Amino acid sequence: MKFEDYRISDEIKKSLSKLNFTKPTDIQYKAIPPIMKGEDVLAIAQTGTGKTAAFAIPVLDRLQFSKNRKRGDGIKCIVMVPTRELAIQITEVFNEIGRGTRVNIFSVFGGVEQGPQIAKLEAGIDVLVATPGRLFDLVSQGYIQLHRVEILILDEADHMLDLGFIHDIRQLITKLPRQRQTLFFSATINEKIKELAYSLVNKPVRIQV
Ligand code: AMP
Repeated sequence: MKFEDYRISDEIKKSLSKLNFTKPTDIQYKAIPPIMKGEDVLAIAQTGTGKTAAFAIPVLDRLQFSKNRKRGDGIKCIVMVPTRELAIQITEVFNEIGRGTRVNIFSVFGGVEQGPQIAKLEAGIDVLVATPGRLFDLVSQGYIQLHRVEILILDEADHMLDLGFIHDIRQLITKLPRQRQTLFFSATINEKIKELAYSLVNKPVRIQV
């Protein structure tokens, strides 16, 4: 199976070919079809497996389609990540794959001033990549609304728990629509992570690579 054979937009296929991504990696092969169908996913996958594109490709495809149909405004997808570095890296992947889709991606993270981030939040953002602490702060102050979110992604969930983000994550979840798709990615699994995962996902497709 090659990306050429996937039912994804021509714009995304073109970006993938530019990146020299011709065939899906194992995690992409397993995760893209259920994500495209709208199912929840619980995936155990390490960095280096291609997990970012595994969620970026189907999410961009869906948002490009809904954008062409002029659905309502507001953030449609939240990607929660443990660190600023990962936020920047994931935003880059979305931008590279999403070139030509007109889907807008932006990131917010702690450790820098809020002002410049707030200024940019005005322009219709479709995908927001965020660390939980800064996201919580911006939501609390009313700079970010979460009521239009259709897809929630948690990446490196184990790392977010290690960094003590559990409280922020739990608070943020209460502000998201209950009717949504949730994709939960973690490199490792234990009781605490399972507890968080199963409190968020609904009948997930489980993937381990
Ligand atoms: P990740 O696990 O998301 O950090 O990705 C690891 C690396 O694999 C990145 O450098 C990607 O550019 C690369 N990659 C992801 N998917 C593919 C693919 N289908 N074919 C070739 N390289 C890929």
